[in-house]
Parts: sequence; C-alpha cells; structure tokens
Amino acid sequence: MNKQNQNILIKGIGAAPGISFAKVYLYAKEKELISDAVITDVDEAIAALHDAIFRSKKELNKIFDLAVYKLGEKRAAIFEAQIMILDDPVLINTIKERIKNEKKVPEYIVHDEITKYQDLMNQAREPYMKERSQDIEDIKNRIIRNLKKKRWQSRIEEDVIVIAKSLTPADTVLFSRVNAKGFACDFGGLTSHAAIVARSLNIPAVVGLHDATAKINADDNVIVDGFRGEIIINPSTEVEKEYLDKIIRLAQFDAKLSVLKHEPAVTTDGREIDLMANLDLLEEIEIVKENGADGIGLVRTEQIFSSQDQFPDEDIQYETYLKLADDLAPNKLIIRVFDIGGDKVLPFDVKEPNPFLGWRGIRFLLDNKKLFKTQLRAILRASMKQNILIMIPMISSIAEIRSSKLLIEECRNELRQENVQFDENIKVGIMVEVPSAAVMAGEFAEEVDFISIGTNDLIQYLLAVDRGNEIVSNQYQEFHPAVIRTIRHIIKEGKNDHTFVSMCGEMAGDTLAVPLLVGLGLDSISVSPAMIPIIKKIIRSISYSEAKSLADKCLIFKTEKEISNLLQEFNDVYLKDAIQKI
Ligand code: PEP
Ligand code: MG
Repeated sequence: MNKQNQNILIKGIGAAPGISFAKVYLYAKEKELISDAVITDVDEAIAALHDAIFRSKKELNKIFDLAVYKLGEKRAAIFEAQIMILDDPVLINTIKERIKNEKKVPEYIVHDEITKYQDLMNQAREPYMKERSQDIEDIKNRIIRNLKKKRWQSRIEEDVIVIAKSLTPADTVLFSRVNAKGFACDFGGLTSHAAIVARSLNIPAVVGLHDATAKINADDNVIVDGFRGEIIINPSTEVEKEYLDKIIRLAQFDAKLSVLKHEPAVTTDGREIDLMANLDLLEEIEIVKENGADGIGLVRTEQIFSSQDQFPDEDIQYETYLKLADDLAPNKLIIRVFDIGGDKVLPFDVKEPNPFLGWRGIRFLLDNKKLFKTQLRAILRASMKQNILIMIPMISSIAEIRSSKLLIEECRNELRQENVQFDENIKVGIMVEVPSAAVMAGEFAEEVDFISIGTNDLIQYLLAVDRGNEIVSNQYQEFHPAVIRTIRHIIKEGKNDHTFVSMCGEMAGDTLAVPLLVGLGLDSISVSPAMIPIIKKIIRSISYSEAKSLADKCLIFKTEKEISNLLQEFNDVYLKDAIQKI
C-alpha cells in the first residue's frame, strides 16, 4: 500500500475492548444548511412540522425496538427519553407559535429553538450534561432531515470501521445492525452513551481522538485497538500482520481461557484469590456468569440506574437488587450505595468549584438521608439469600462510617417493625479511596466487615492528579512508589484486624499489576467482567511466594520506572509463555 498517511498512530481513549481491522466508513453527518426563508402558508408549514415529528418518532420507535432487543429495556430507555422530547408539548407549541409569528421556514425555528436547549446544557460543568446535549443534537437533526424529506444513510456494504466526529447512541445501535466492526470518534468520553452502548454490543471502540476524521480518507484502512485506546491508519504490511495475528490469537486465547471457567483463581502454591467482577450495566451479568466470576465485587448503583432521570423508588431498586442476588447466589453481590457527585451528575442543580473535592459519595448521602435510607431499605429487603454485602464510597472519617451504620440500623428496625425479613448478618464495608482512610486503614477496618481499595480515586487524591484530565495523564501513575506503599499499608492494617481486603479500581484489572497485587496480600480483586478469564489465568500461572518477593522488591524502589520495569520483566519471565501476550 502506498498511501501518504501510512502507519499513522492516533491515541484516544479505549471505550470498548477488542481489536478490529477494516476499511473505513467515514460517517459525516451532513451539516444541514438552514435557511431563514419567509413562508406564506403557515398551515402548510405547521402540517410539515407535524409530519416531520411523526416520521422522527417512527424512526426512533424502530431504533428503540432494536435497542430493547440488543441491549435490554433499561439501556434502551435512552431512546424512550428522546421520543419523549418529541412529545414535549411546551417545545412543540413554542415552535408552532414562532412559526405563526415569525413566518419563517420550520427548520429554521426548530434549529433555533432546540439549539437554545443545547446551549444551556453545554454551559453545564458536568461532562454528563454536555454528552446529553449530543443526544438532543440527534433529535434536532432528525426533525430537520425529515422536514427536508431526506433519508438516514446507513447502508454499509462491507465490514467497516465507522469513523465519525461523534456518534449518538442511535447511530451506534443502527451501525451494529449492519456491518460495523469498530468505532472511532473525534469526541466522546468513557461515560458517553455511545461508548456504553459499544461496550454492551461488544464492538471495539476508541473515542476522544481529537482530529482523527481530518486525517482519514474514504479509501483508508484502519486498526481500532480498544484495549490500548488507539487507532492506526493504513498500517504497514508488518503492522497489519502483527495485528491480524493478534486478532487470531485473541480468538484462540478466548477459546482456551473459557476452559478455566469453573476453576478457582488459585496460585500454583495454593493461595486462592476471590476473583470478582465490577458491574456498570445490568446486561453485563451475562458476561459475569459466562466468564465464571466468583461474584460481583462492585455494583456501581449510580451507573445501573443512570438512564433514568430520577432516583428509582424503593420497589424498583429492591426488584433490581433481588434479581441480581438471585442470579448470582450463592456467590457474593457487593452493592455500593450511590456514589453521586464528582464526574457523576448530581440530581440537583449544584455548581461546585471542585466537584471531586465536593459533595460526593457518602457526604451527599448523609446530607440526603431520605434518599440514602430508600436505597438501604431496598438492599436489606433483597438480602434474604444472604449473599448481599453493602459497600460505602468516599469514606474519609470514622464519623461517616458510624453515621452510616446508625442509618442502616434505623432501616433494620423499621423493617423489623413492618415484619419484613432481611439478612440479619448482612456485612457492611467501605471503599478506601481517600488518603485519610488509607492512613487510618487499621482503625477504619475495625469498624467494618471488609474494605475495598478504590485505586481510581485513591491515585488521584494521593498524587493530586485529576483522573480524567488528559494533560496530566502521564502523572497518573498506578506504579508510583507512594501508591504501592499505600496499598501495602492498607492491606497490612486491614489484615491486622482480620478484615477482608479487596481492590475494585481499574488497577486490579491491569495484567501487569496482578502479580504485584497478589504478592501484596489482597484477598480479592474485582475487575471488569471481560477481564476475568485473563486475570484468572495470570493468578493460576504464578506462585504466591514469587509474587511476594516481587512485591518486596517493588516496595524498596523509589521511582515509578523501576517498578514498572520490574513488573514487565516478571511478566516476560514468568507469564509470557503461559499467557501469550495480547
Ligand atoms: C475507584 O475509585 O477505584 C472505584 C472503583 O470507584 P469509581 O471508579 O466508581 O469512582
Ligand atoms: Mg471511586
């Protein structure tokens, strides 16, 4: 291949794991030209508006049905919300009134009116609101396209990688129905709905690629590496071969690993680790079971209900938790109470200068006791199979633990009075993700039944590096000596009190980190469901005594480089053959 843009590597964010290689399909959403022409027949214009809204609804209903089939009802609710906007009488009446008064073509008024909504959302500080503004963009363009009587272009003849500035959840679902093998977008973050949909559909995706669309031409070929979060435009023959080999190895590897499904995650010298999964989407429960996890080590409850625009009531929560607990029993289900705030949107209109240092997790819950108790009651009611544990996020003081436990006790008393049964021995644990909790891990552990290290936040607070800021991302180091020593301290202190110590941050799913984490003495790790087989294979390939001496060496080092080099070396010596590297 002799192309000018050969072998160009662009780094973004891995939004959905997997690798694919195919011809590109440049999905340029046509920028509809909006004229502000004057109309003479108001009735005709209003009839055209109604017709366009009717067609848009019909399209979205079809997408909704497809999404229910592919993603399940809860996730498909994104589209239901879009359909509801088309039914919003205030919006539609305002548009109609303006057409009557201003006598301009309907597309002009639709564009102007919906853009006003979007501007408001874009002014919000929360990334979530900005991303929802993309969903509104989809509705706006859909109505305008229908006013112009154009059809959505989605016909793809061959297997392709869809390249776009941004993708809406609707685009993602529709492309999955044709032959999309991967997605690569200029914009978007991990929390965008399009990324979540791609993950659920198991299609590799990389987002946040900045100006990738400007560098890619219609006849290019592209590799999407959703593991590393990068794309390679027109790979050279060698790189192409390297990746095609990787794709084949991945498939073979998956097949081989599935043999371990019913085997424990035990080291060669007999130390068994509870290998659990993190759950962000209810649909992931299938992968959790298929991959043979020992349970769920973290349910991000604020995520599983994120498609609803208000907090679910006690009964809805109860049914959701009960179904998960039944599905998993006798395996454990660790339900983390709502960790709202930070980068996760607050239900109220609160502007905070530093949301990550603000009203987040347990701080928010203790200030909103009614909401907290609703969730606690729902969890308790669902606990009859005795496999549910309660976990509290963002704990920074013993007072917060005690206040939470008092509220749990209050809920138990209420339920007893109501003659509602629950697990009397339900265990309560905390996440250790704030440095104060790490420093006092021993004392904190005495108050609870288990602790789980949340490295995603612990690293950001320990090193003062925003976990979502690309500019400082190379300072966000999981192998910083201070991070390793802090993890060691938490485990040691927790063990002094015989408290069960787990880790559920992303670090637990880093293949390079696993031998070190086992060597540091963790009892359990909880990782994203897709990573269970490979992590199990790693644990089954190492001995605890080797892992311990690896950890001892890492605890002496003073620089990140020394630690990561040694872990790489360990990987090459002990694991390379066992786990053909992917
Ligand atoms: C963590 O902080 O490591 C964690 C697991 O919680 P979250 O990523 O949801 O903040
Ligand atoms: Mg956290």
